[in-house]
Amino acid sequence: MSFSELGLTDRLLRAVEAEGYDKPTSVQKKAIPVILSRRDVMAAAETGSGKTAAFSLPLLQSLAEGEQARANRVRALILTPTRELAAQVGAFVARYSRHLSLRSTVVFGGVKINPQMKRLRGGVDLLVATPGRLLDLYHQRAIHLSTVETLVLDEADRMLDLGFTDEVTKIISLLPQQRQNLLFSATFSPDIRRLAGALLHNPVQIEVSPRNAAASSVKQSVFEVDKARKSALLSHLIRRGGWKQALVFTLTKRGADRLVRQLEEDGITAISIHGDKSQGARTRALATFKAGDVRILVATDVAARGLDIVQLPYVVNFDLPKVATDYVHRIGRTGRAGLQGEAISLVAADDAKQLAAIETVIQQQITREQEVGFVPRQVVPITQPRAGGPKRPKKAKKPKQYAAEKPGSKKRAGRAAKPSHKRAVSRPPGRGVR
Ligand code: AMP
Repeated sequence: MSFSELGLTDRLLRAVEAEGYDKPTSVQKKAIPVILSRRDVMAAAETGSGKTAAFSLPLLQSLAEGEQARANRVRALILTPTRELAAQVGAFVARYSRHLSLRSTVVFGGVKINPQMKRLRGGVDLLVATPGRLLDLYHQRAIHLSTVETLVLDEADRMLDLGFTDEVTKIISLLPQQRQNLLFSATFSPDIRRLAGALLHNPVQIEVSPRNAAASSVKQSVFEVDKARKSALLSHLIRRGGWKQALVFTLTKRGADRLVRQLEEDGITAISIHGDKSQGARTRALATFKAGDVRILVATDVAARGLDIVQLPYVVNFDLPKVATDYVHRIGRTGRAGLQGEAISLVAADDAKQLAAIETVIQQQITREQEVGFVPRQVVPITQPRAGGPKRPKKAKKPKQYAAEKPGSKKRAGRAAKPSHKRAVSRPPGRGVR
């Protein structure tokens, strides 16, 4: 199937062609005609699936058919959980709408509000926003939401994980009753289903990948190692494999900075991206990495969410994620668009419980390996997935760095995640020393 069969106008087809997209992805095939028909949509699609174009292209087409927005008004609203994702979606929207006379802009926290207020003054057809900053702008009367025709919740699961439930509920209450709603989420937890139930009217459900499934194009492995030797093992793997570039995840900002120092000491160029860095510093770090000027990008989960780095061959979990479903998001950064990728997790004895929780989410036992010279002194207990999936859904605590995006409030809706997996049970996994 080609893009021209999906009902898009020539102006959008030209933009798609300029992006170099030959064929629509699975989510695009399913979502574009439905969104053009103005139905509500509930789509399970992750970063890398082409979801941004799946909702932006038909949205832009509908907007191009109507009247332009009046002063301080907005016609379509895309809510994203993080600044990075907002900036990225905004950049795609600008590119896809290059042949249309529509106004779009992006607003998010952590930067000055006045320039954003100015940009909204003349009205915008499409606004990409993070929830906290949007409410700030609303309270300052910089934006009226009563003319919104379409609402998109992008990465809705992440929005709730980060504790934005109250803000999202408030924003929805400010919108007109008559509107189209599009909800995109990587996973469908009970909380997301509850939100979908309240938000969507007779939605078309679109599923492109099995729930919480890891892409089959990603080779996953666990390297058993003592905690203190993780960075030495990582340097060894990078050198031995001659890795050109890799994305490495740590749990904390300090951990990210420490790892960058250790890699640099080993002569491997690295840069970190996390919430303590200014927006400008994060953008620069990402640009440096994308340009190939550094080999390793070390990121925390929040900072990495939604980053558009194509064709990344390696993703490393230096620390396992606290929330098991984040593992799926992390490794989704490699093996995209049918390319083979490798996801490597460095696992010490203390990480066994979390590894079991991850194996339960993906319903698969990850192959274990040991590297000569790095065989752990402390045995990593045997794990296996719990049949039937995780016991109960987990929510992550909202990371501090995003507090700036919340208007005035210190209270968070999110709860800290507790690993639901209480036991590491016995069945020998495949092990091999290489
Ligand atoms: P997303 O899932 O929206 O984060 O998109 C991930 C990446 O896929 C982006 O770099 C897009 O430019 C790219 N992309 C989106 N649609 C297509 C397509 N039909 N063909 C090739 N690449 C695409």
